[in-house]
Amino acid sequence: MNKGFLLVVSGPSGVGKGTVLHDLMNTQHNLVYSVSATTRGKREGEIDGISYFFIDHDKFEKMIENDEFLEYARVHNNYYGTPKEFVERKINEGKIVILEIDVQGAMNIKKSTDDGVFVFIAPPSLAELRNRIEKRGTETLEDINIRMNNAIGELKCINEYDYLVVNDHLNSAINSVNEIINAEKHRVFRSDYVYKEEDDD
Ligand code: 5GP
Repeated sequence: MNKGFLLVVSGPSGVGKGTVLHDLMNTQHNLVYSVSATTRGKREGEIDGISYFFIDHDKFEKMIENDEFLEYARVHNNYYGTPKEFVERKINEGKIVILEIDVQGAMNIKKSTDDGVFVFIAPPSLAELRNRIEKRGTETLEDINIRMNNAIGELKCINEYDYLVVNDHLNSAINSVNEIINAEKHRVFRSDYVYKEEDDD
């Protein structure tokens, strides 16, 4: 069994990370998605335990105290965190664990592990990003402005990542992330391949 690894995917809110990853989950075997915990309110269509674990501030702070997060961050005035136990168990089972997390969280993971693959998904332009968030129709104008400001901050961190995928056309972004995963699966240091020398007789 090859070693599993963390696939850390960041990119501004509204860039389409969720759509890209959802498609990959259906096509690549061995991928599992780490469901984060958050204190943000549930959006229409989101399901507790699938989209996020929706919890309140008190519970989140208890989980911090109990060291239950691999990383956590405050994003757009809410807490978001990656439950540790699930991720560690799946990596040990040889799975590729997807963390769809913000730049602060990704940088924390980068400091604490040398076995993560870091992918940044960027919009073709800021105007197109605003357009996509507005079309989603789930945020107030104030929230949209916060998210656009955060997007600029996140785009400044691209250089910290291993791979950049511009989500201009959905299918080509999906293909690019697919290729990254396939290449990373074949890294020699992840392989448990051993060859046997032929018997001399
Ligand atoms: P949204 O509210 O749009 O679902 O997510 C807002 C931001 O929080 C996104 O950039 C998303 O990637 C990030 N995020 C989601 N889960 C986590 C997490 O567990 N940790 C961190 N650090 N960021 C997260």
